[in-house]
Amino acid sequence: MFQKSISSLSVLFFSAILLITCQNEKKYVGTQKNSKIFSVEDPHSYSNPSKIRVTHMDLNLEILWSTHILKGFVTVTLDKNENADTLILDTRQLKISAVQNISGKALNYWLGDSKAIFGAPLYIVLGKDDKKVKIVYETIANAAALQWVSPPQTHDKKEEFLYSQSQAILARSWVPCQDAPAVKFTYTAKIKTKPGYLALMSATNPQEVNESGIYTFEMDQPISSYLLALSSGEISFKALGNNCGIYAEPGMLEKAAWEFADMQKMIDEAGKLYGTYMWKRYDVLVLPPSFPFGGMENPRLTFATPTVITGDRSQVSLIAHELAHSWSGNLVTNATWNDFWLNEGFTNYFEQRIMEKLYGKPYDEMRQVLAWNDLEKTIAEMKADGLLGDTKLKLNLKGRDPDDGLSDVAYDKGRFFLCHLEKIVGKKNWDDFLNKYFKANAFSYNNTEDFLKYLNQELLDKNPEWKRLANASEWMYGEGLPKDAVKPVSRELDKVDLLITNYLNGTLKIDRLDTSGFTSHHWQYFIRQLGKKLVPENSMNSIKIVIELNSIYILTEIDKQYKFSNRGNAEICCDWFTLSVKVGYTQNRPQTEKFLVSIGRRKFLMPIYEALVKTPEGKISAKQVFEKAKIGYHSVSAISVEEVLK
Ligand SMILES: [Zn+2]
Repeated sequence: MFQKSISSLSVLFFSAILLITCQNEKKYVGTQKNSKIFSVEDPHSYSNPSKIRVTHMDLNLEILWSTHILKGFVTVTLDKNENADTLILDTRQLKISAVQNISGKALNYWLGDSKAIFGAPLYIVLGKDDKKVKIVYETIANAAALQWVSPPQTHDKKEEFLYSQSQAILARSWVPCQDAPAVKFTYTAKIKTKPGYLALMSATNPQEVNESGIYTFEMDQPISSYLLALSSGEISFKALGNNCGIYAEPGMLEKAAWEFADMQKMIDEAGKLYGTYMWKRYDVLVLPPSFPFGGMENPRLTFATPTVITGDRSQVSLIAHELAHSWSGNLVTNATWNDFWLNEGFTNYFEQRIMEKLYGKPYDEMRQVLAWNDLEKTIAEMKADGLLGDTKLKLNLKGRDPDDGLSDVAYDKGRFFLCHLEKIVGKKNWDDFLNKYFKANAFSYNNTEDFLKYLNQELLDKNPEWKRLANASEWMYGEGLPKDAVKPVSRELDKVDLLITNYLNGTLKIDRLDTSGFTSHHWQYFIRQLGKKLVPENSMNSIKIVIELNSIYILTEIDKQYKFSNRGNAEICCDWFTLSVKVGYTQNRPQTEKFLVSIGRRKFLMPIYEALVKTPEGKISAKQVFEKAKIGYHSVSAISVEEVLK
């Protein structure tokens, strides 16, 4: 998933209200197809895969557009230990109407107690020879994983749109399943949607509309439940290379195809780095603006936010990121959400390598510096909020929402740990190791300890000095950043610092600043560094008033010169509007409100709302905007904003 910078406030919110322990923790001791011994404790699933494990699912669902419900059945194929007789599946607010074996005989079943976010276990008593079970069910209206988008909220504003977001533990709200990342299964599906609409899944996909509205799908490579995905709407397809293409609303298709023109190159470069792309096709579906995240790495079909369609190809790293998940995450999966950094830290590192290869080192150095600064800020905020425990790479999310682990720590502390290892052992040794790691663990899972063991065995044990310098346990189990973490540098961004200094001390007038060749990353850094000077964190009130007066003047002048308030790039808009609110520059309030209403990506919403609520006037205006905007937000975003407004 591509979603960094979750606000520490929303982390606190989830932590505070969701301290509920998931009851059915089990020690898995069964085996998976790849013959790895199953020994995972998953605190976020009720299921019992050590005894009975789902190996295949056959879904048959109808999309009921008028009531926002999915209705039908799923047949699960099981691999079970001889004496096991009760299958346990995860469900969340599903209405189960019948459970049968393959001969149509009704099986005894019941739902256990339901708990917030975890849902309820579904117990099914099997006969001795029952290897397949059919569960007839429907979702509630507006199930947690499903976003039903009304025509005005889409890009083309003509037709409805549906998409799912199953990560981390939302798959259970639309399919009864063993909702634990270590459990992998293949699937087939038959989906009935509105005639004229396309339906798409994380599987083989149609490229043309079928007038009957009935589509069949097959995913013959094992995946985890969080990668189950479904979307439907008026969607067109455009091929971009041998095995890749874009799906989008018709009015968005050409813009998206232009933006992602380098997709085939990315797939080829990624393959050269860490082994052949294993998932046959790689397509991207551009979703309506309400998608709360940047992207979701659903196998064969990445879901992407339209906020990366900036018209300047400045956010294509999102595709590099989601593509990299085809190795780290989808192929080699975190055993539980406590090991989330194995998915995201590896993916951010891999993304960095792809971007460096395609666009050069100076470009990627800028991205690294921006990420490092975000990480330091996140760690400081978490410390202030008493959440230092969550700054360890190995998390302990037992009893909590796995989304609590969605912070810069997993993504960037994880990434910088891998950069640190690369530096110690040298690029060649490191790349050889990673190639071997992906190959050896393909279609399987690892926890942090499995990874460390493999790292030592295959790499660090070869040289005691490497092992000493790696300092792996402090990176894994220590809080914050270890002392040996090295801050990245970027000469490009050093130029920006110099320019800001010269401007603020009056050496250069605004129209004399040399910003030629600036990319959106230069500008992002420019706005953030300016913010650090204009709104120092610990300024005394009296000084602050003087600074604020100057700040408003400065922002007015800068906006006139660079027109930040009217740019199409959401990264720049977010930083600029946040800074504007902080210093009290209100001339661009209409553009700020328009931005908050038109996008739903949480990463961009939260900083602005958080800045607004700091003043009584801002809070009133934040509440008014949210009233207008919330209909277009996914529940994931709406809940986070509501909490800030309280
Ligand atoms: Zn990701």
